[in-house]
Amino acid sequence: MRVEADLDVCVGSGTCELLAPDVFEVGEDGVVRVLRPQPGQADEDAVRDAVAQCPTGALGLAD
Ligand code: SF4
Repeated sequence: MRVEADLDVCVGSGTCELLAPDVFEVGEDGVVRVLRPQPGQADEDAVRDAVAQCPTGALGLAD
């Protein structure tokens, strides 16, 4: 699993960080940072949740 973030679309809501804090962090600039672009299995469900619940569709997954 690889996580991709479209920084032009992110509005810094922080939903992803809340759901998967090991993988996402919203910086002071109000834009998401993907801390671990290739998260391990332990984070997989949380990451899928975060991708699904991102309000702007900024997050995507690639295999
Ligand atoms: S949930 Fe989406 S819009 Fe909100 S901080 Fe994360 S990537 Fe950005």
